[in-house]
This record gives sequence, C-alpha cells and structure tokens, in this order.
Amino acid sequence: MTARVLVVDDVLPNVKLLDAKLTGEYFDVLSAYSGPEALEIISREHPDIILLDVMMPGMDGFEVCRRIKADPATTHIPVVMVTALDQPSDRVAGLEAGADDFLTKPVQDLALFARVRSLVRLKLMMDELRNREATGASLGLDENDGGEGLLEAPTDAKILVVDDQVRLMERIARALDGMGEIGFLEGSDQVAEEARTKTLDLIIVSLSMTKADGLRICSKLRSYEETRHVPILVMVDDGNTKMLVRALEMGVNDYVVRPVDRMEFLARVKTQVRRKRYADKLRENFHISMQMATTDAVTGLYNRHYMSSHLDTQLRAAESRGKPLSLLMMDIDHFKEVNDTYGHKAGDEVLKEFAERIARNIRGVDLAARYGGEEFVIIMPDTTKEFAALIAERLRSEVDEQPFDISDKRGPIHVSVSIGVASSPDGSEAASSLLERADAIMYKAKSEGRNRVLIA
Ligand code: GH3
Ligand code: MG
Ligand code: MG
Repeated sequence: MTARVLVVDDVLPNVKLLDAKLTGEYFDVLSAYSGPEALEIISREHPDIILLDVMMPGMDGFEVCRRIKADPATTHIPVVMVTALDQPSDRVAGLEAGADDFLTKPVQDLALFARVRSLVRLKLMMDELRNREATGASLGLDENDGGEGLLEAPTDAKILVVDDQVRLMERIARALDGMGEIGFLEGSDQVAEEARTKTLDLIIVSLSMTKADGLRICSKLRSYEETRHVPILVMVDDGNTKMLVRALEMGVNDYVVRPVDRMEFLARVKTQVRRKRYADKLRENFHISMQMATTDAVTGLYNRHYMSSHLDTQLRAAESRGKPLSLLMMDIDHFKEVNDTYGHKAGDEVLKEFAERIARNIRGVDLAARYGGEEFVIIMPDTTKEFAALIAERLRSEVDEQPFDISDKRGPIHVSVSIGVASSPDGSEAASSLLERADAIMYKAKSEGRNRVLIA
C-alpha cells in the first residue's frame, strides 16, 4: 500500500527524519514547516494522512488539527499528532481537537508504519464509500446526511469488552458509563464465534490475557463476515510493540496502552464508534439509493441511466488498456401485439422472462440493462464483435425456440427479438456513437424481416 503523507514540523531535522523513514517504506512524503503552510498544502494536495507536530510557533498543532477537522473538504483526512511530551493531557487535547491518533517522539519505526498503514487503510475505505455516495448523488438520488453521525456523541453504542480479569473489566465498565450497552466476554477461543452472533459497534480486546490468545481472537473477528466491519480497539501492555504491530497489521483499528488513561480511552472509544456509525450509514444509504436509482423495477436489470454512465466508464477502461468493447442492442419484435392480444400483464411477464434469459446468457463482467420499453442493451467488455455476435445469436435462437410462459391460459407464446451488434476495437469510440450505431443496425435487422442478428 502506498499513500501520500504530509509531515508538519517547525524543526527541519524532525521533518527530515520522518521523511527518510517513510520514504524508505515507499510512502510519498510532502512536508510543511508551519501551521499555515500545512493548511495551504492540505487544501491543494489532499494528502492521505497528516503527521502533525504539536509545538510550533504561531499556530500550534492543536489549532491546525481543529481547522482540518472543521473543514468538510479535509475532515476525513486522518491526523496523527506527534508530540515530544508524553503527557496524557496533551493526548486528550489532541483527540479533542479531532486528531485520530498520536505518536510520541522519538517515534518508533514499527509503530509509526503500522499506525500510518492502519489509518490510511481506513481512509481509503471511507473515500471509497464517499465516492460511491457521490456517484449516487450525481445520478440524482436523495441528498443525505452521511456526515451527521460523526458529530454526535454516541449514547447507545453496543460495545463488547474481552478480557480475562474481572477487576479490569469493572474499571472499563466505569470508564464507559453512559455510552450505551457494554457487554463482557471472558477471553476464550470461542469469543469470536460468540461475537459474530451480536450486533456491535466496537469490540475491545485485551492483548494481555493469559487464558486466551487476544491476537487470534482479533484475527478471527477480522475474517468473519459479521464482524469484519466492526472496529477493534486493543489494550496492550506498555512496551509490547511487537504484539501491537501484529495487531495493527491484522487490521485492528486502534489501541490503548496499559495502564490506560481514562480520558484518552474514552476519546478513542468515541472516535471508533462514530466512525463505525458513519461507515454503516454510508453503506446503508448506498445500497438503498443505488438500488432504487440504478435498477428497473419490472425486470430487475439496470436502467438506462445507469447503463449510460457504466458504458462511459467501461469505454474509458477499454481505451486505456487497448481492449475491445461490444454492445448488443435488442428489441422485442411486434411486442405491441403481445400487449394487444394478451394484455399488459402478459406483456410484463414476457419482459421479465426475457430479462432472465439475458441474465443467464451473459458473463459476470457483462452488464445488461433495460434501455426502453422492450429494448435492452448488453455491454460486453473485452469482447470482439465476432464473439458478441455469437452470444447475440445464442440469445436470439433461445428466445425464438422456447415459447414464453404467461399466466393467461392462451400461453405459452412465441416471441422473437432483433439484435444489433456494434463494437469498438480499442474503446476509443464515444458511448453515444456506439449506441447510435447499434441502434441503427438493429433497425436494419427489423426492416430485413426481424428475428435476426446484424453486425454494424
Ligand atoms: P417492432 O417489431 O417494430 O419493435 O414492433 P413493436 O410492437 O415491438 O414496437 P413498438 O415500438 O411499436 O411497440 C412497443 C410496445 O411495447 C408498445 C408498448 O405498449 C409496449 N411496452 C413498452 N413498455 C412496456 C412495459 O413495461 N410493459 C408492457 N406490457 N408493455 C410495454
Ligand atoms: Mg419492439
Ligand atoms: Mg420499440
């Protein structure tokens, strides 16, 4: 994984040191020597993560962090405070300013890399979700309030704590008082299996258990479908860097070092729960709105709007790889007669069955869409026109040879389809032009007697 890291420190050797460490791990490093310079670079370059010195003359790190987090355009960029003072109050001030994490100087290599990777991984996931949401918005979907969950402090969080010492668990319960429902599981090999049956916002796992292997539990939690998206916060003994790095590499989201500072612990738990809520919300909105906006209710295929934007994307991809792309334009023959003779309901049944036959005849990479009333389009990436014509012919004959069931007792009925095939050998053609050519050749198939495949 590579990422763009912005290092901010007023002391040149500090910047050089972090730059060297990160460049050695193939990160792309930007640097700034003051708060204002950092803000300027951030708004221009949008780095994936920011390592921010706390003590700087003029604008200090806390202020820089507050500004980053207050700006909707940059609030999603993770900020790691780098502080020389190992002061819990500094950590809390940083987290309250919105920082995602902190490192103490001198910065340890392994913790630094693991930390940066873990936060960048999270950011990439959030970016992906936000991009999808933006696609949804550009398709004319409902406005939504995906960011709202980030601001409110959770009071109904479902948190599971896994430890093997009752005394410690009681301390944790007191620290988390008021945040929601706190459950406890005594560490054992069955913890992950039990956790997957619950709805959770956060799982806190102790890595200092003697009766169970905390790392194994984390690894299982990451592999199960039900718990994969649930953030994990581990508690690790001071100095156990090796274990911590392994945990972070596994995809654990955050950690606290024992003895745990109560304020810091609380701040991190809140951050993780908020993040989880945010991700859930985006995912949920995405599923609902994408489905509504992209699919046709009668056939369950993609709709014309979605198909058009997908065709653009696929053509650009084909062009950049120099690969062919083919398109089938299909129109059911004399469909008006089906409606006129058997009724609109029978017509709908034919459309559904037709869509199912299409779906059965295409590959996973192909995309089938309802283009209009009884017109359908199939987009076939990496496909020559010869191969596309073969698929088209297979579809045509399957429609022609197998009558369509309808609930009207006069059924099943014979249906046929005319298909036009158009192809771009290298993806360089515009979507509209490819569609027009396919449409034109499909109409030629109609005028030549229907129930046939013609190639543009
Ligand atoms: P051609 O072979 O030239 O394509 O003839 P056609 O009758 O199929 O073409 P035309 O465009 O004249 O008629 C299309 C018909 O499709 C008219 C319309 O009522 C019907 N239709 C469009 N959408 C739906 C739908 O969702 N359900 C039903 N049942 N019919 C539909
Ligand atoms: Mg028709
Ligand atoms: Mg028509």
